Amino acid sequence: MAEFLTQQEAELYRAIGRFLCEQKLSVDPANYAFAFRVVSDPAGALARSVAALTDGGVRLTSQDIAALGGTPTAGTAALVSLHDGMPTAAPRPSQSNGKNEAEAIVARAEMQVADFSRAVRSIHAETSGFGRELAASAAAMRDSRATTDFDEVFRLTAAMIDRANVAEHRMAAAEQEAEALRSALDKANGTARLDPLTELANRRAFDEAYAALSPGTPVALAVCDIDHFKRVNDDFGHAVGDRVLRAVGSSIAGECGNAMVARYGGEEFALMFVGVDLDAAVAMVDRARSAVAARRFRSRATDAPIGAITISAGVSAGTSDEPREAVFARADAAMYRAKASGRNRALAAA
Ligand code: GH3
Ligand code: MG
Ligand code: MG
Repeated sequence: MAEFLTQQEAELYRAIGRFLCEQKLSVDPANYAFAFRVVSDPAGALARSVAALTDGGVRLTSQDIAALGGTPTAGTAALVSLHDGMPTAAPRPSQSNGKNEAEAIVARAEMQVADFSRAVRSIHAETSGFGRELAASAAAMRDSRATTDFDEVFRLTAAMIDRANVAEHRMAAAEQEAEALRSALDKANGTARLDPLTELANRRAFDEAYAALSPGTPVALAVCDIDHFKRVNDDFGHAVGDRVLRAVGSSIAGECGNAMVARYGGEEFALMFVGVDLDAAVAMVDRARSAVAARRFRSRATDAPIGAITISAGVSAGTSDEPREAVFARADAAMYRAKASGRNRALAAA
């Protein structure tokens, strides 16, 4: 690497090269600039968008680059089609899953909002400066003794100030719109962490909450699985099964105080008790278990009794210094013991 580059610059240069090679992009200024924007801010919205789109080794298409604000060139398409024999204009089979696509959309929209706000702010600054200058020069002319047609100058200046004011108001409204868009995006980000059926946290939110615990925090985890749930679906249909799932989720959440309750899998809930010891956590989970067992469900359509629904649970305790998987595996093993020993019970991990 050339000696006039600092180590950091040399690394950036290499990273840009790697990116262009991995994506099989030609080294033209537009692609280089795009690669620079991606690799120079690896945690930024653009890099996250690219990561989401290229998950599983899928390469960017020229449409992807265009959508992300880069400018694909004819050279790009030619080179890509040379390499993989597939014209970039053709839609490529999507290998990224729905979650990644949603993340890419959110990241892309975040970039658009950020660009828009920046543009609006700079126009706002310009127009308000312009208005102030005009007002100042009009005042100066009014005070001067020159023999110009002042009435005309004043009229023009006043009209220009009016225009500047209107533009300023429009910009302020646009900025408000951008703010509204930003909060809608925040909400969309939140929904990405909610299970739509039960409206409880989803697995992703649960895992993120565990990862966010301060080091050394005492924590207890519980896994609750509905017993013989397949039978509910088989006997009463999936829609009834869904309603039972929602009801069980809300019973558990209602009984477990401040614990975070997440729908972790199909008919499986995970609970996180922060700063709670094993015995206290088992007691709360057992209370939730008996609340669920005490409910009597009926089919809404036929009023036929569905009967009692029960859950089996396993609870383990540790600290946040342990990986979530390790604490969770102990709770899971206890849950399987609860199943094996007759179901409808909550057991502490051995
Ligand atoms: P066990 O007591 O051993 O846990 O028995 P089970 O029948 O609950 O366990 P199994 O794993 O055999 O079946 C789980 C069932 O949960 C199968 C699947 O159809 C159902 N299920 C998973 N997710 C949903 C869902 O979102 N809605 C509905 N209605 N059913 C679901
Ligand atoms: Mg299960
Ligand atoms: Mg089950």
